[in-house]
Amino acid sequence: MNKNIYDITIIGGGPVGMFAGFYSGLRNAKVQIIESLDELGGQVNALYPEKTILDVAGFAGLTGRELVNNLKAQLLTMQPDISLNTTVKNVKKVDDFFAIETDKGTTQSRAIIIATGNGSFKPRKLLADNADKYENNQIQYFIKNLDDFKDKQVLVAGGGDSAIDQALMLEKVAKKVYLLHRRNEFRGLERMVSRLKTSSVELVTPYLIKEVQPADGNQITLVAKKMRTDDEFKTITVDKMLVNYGFVADSKAMKNWDINLQTSHRLLKVDSKMQTNIPNVYAVGDQANYDGKQTIIATGFGEVPLAVNGIMQNLYPNSNAPIHSTQLSK
Ligand SMILES: Cc1cc2nc3c(=O)[nH]c(=O)nc-3n(C[C@H](O)[C@H](O)[C@H](O)COP(=O)(O)OP(=O)(O)OC[C@H]3O[C@@H](n4cnc5c(N)ncnc54)[C@H](O)[C@@H]3O)c2cc1C
Repeated sequence: MNKNIYDITIIGGGPVGMFAGFYSGLRNAKVQIIESLDELGGQVNALYPEKTILDVAGFAGLTGRELVNNLKAQLLTMQPDISLNTTVKNVKKVDDFFAIETDKGTTQSRAIIIATGNGSFKPRKLLADNADKYENNQIQYFIKNLDDFKDKQVLVAGGGDSAIDQALMLEKVAKKVYLLHRRNEFRGLERMVSRLKTSSVELVTPYLIKEVQPADGNQITLVAKKMRTDDEFKTITVDKMLVNYGFVADSKAMKNWDINLQTSHRLLKVDSKMQTNIPNVYAVGDQANYDGKQTIIATGFGEVPLAVNGIMQNLYPNSNAPIHSTQLSK
C-alpha cells in the first residue's frame, strides 16, 4: 500500500471529529484531521467555550473549553496529522482512493469520515472602512498566542461570552484592554459579566467601529460611532484589535464536491453504520442524518465507533472488530 495514502481522513475537527481521530488511532488507522478554523473544537470552542455542558456522560458538568481540552489531550495520544486553517473544497474518487482537495493542496485517503457539523465556519468580519488592510496583523480574529498581546494596548470588539472571556484573558498580559460593544448590555454569563465589571477592562458602549486609520508606529486608530447618533464619534488608538462578532457557517459547500452525496433535510443521509451512499465515505455528528437523529454531542460520540469500525472492516476485512477499548490499547 502507498504509505502516503491515509486510511481515514476526518473532515471537520469539532468534538465529534476529534473523537473520531482518537478512535481511528486506537484502531491503528493512518489518520488525518482537516479543520477549516485555526483551532479544533467546532461549535463548542467557537460558540460556547464558557457554557457548562451537563449532558456529556461521565461529567457532572464541564465547560465547553474543558471538554475541548480533554478531547484534544485524548486525540494527541494518537499523534494524528492535523491540518488547521484548511478547508476541504472537493472530494473526488480516483481508483480505489479519494483525492481530497483543500485550499492548501490535495491529499489521498482510502476512506473519509465527514464530521463537518453545520458546515465550515468563518469568523464574522469587521465591516469597517480599511479593516482588510490590517487583517492578520493589527486586526485578528483569534488569540493564537497570548504573548503577542503582552504589554500592548488592545481593543476587543463584541458583546458575547467569548468577547468577555478574551478581554479578561488579555487583561492579565496587556497594558490596557478596551471592550467595545454596540449595546450597553453584554450577552455573557452573569458570572463573567460581574467579573468584567470589577476588572480593569474599559467598557466602550454603545459604539460600533466604522473606520480603521493608520497611527504612529505600528498602531491603528479605531473610529467608532455612538449608536443611534449621527455625529458622535470616539477614536481609540491601539496596537491590536481582536474582533469577536461570532461566526458564519457555509453548509452548502459539499454540493459542489465531485462525489455525489445523498442528503436528507440538507444533511448527509447515512445507514445504520453511518455510511453515506458512497462506499467508504461515512458521516458522523451534526452533519449525519437518519430517522430520529438528535444533534447533540453524546449522539455524535456514539456514532464514531460505528463509522470507524465499519471503515476498518471494509479496508481490512481480516481484522477483528473490537468490542472494548482495552482490546485495542497499544
Ligand atoms: C449555543 C449552543 C449550545 C449547545 N449546547 C449543547 C449542549 O449543552 N450539549 C450538547 O450535547 N450539545 C450542545 N450543542 C450542540 C453541539 O455543539 C453539537 O452537537 C456539536 O458541536 C456537533 O459536533 P460536530 O463535531 O458534529 O460538529 P461541529 O461542532 O459543528 O464541528 C464541525 C467542524 O467542521 C469544520 N468544517 C466544516 N466544513 C469543513 C470543511 N469543508 N473543511 C474543513 N473543516 C470543515 C467546522 O469548521 C467545524 O469546526 C450546542 C450547540 C450550540 C450552538
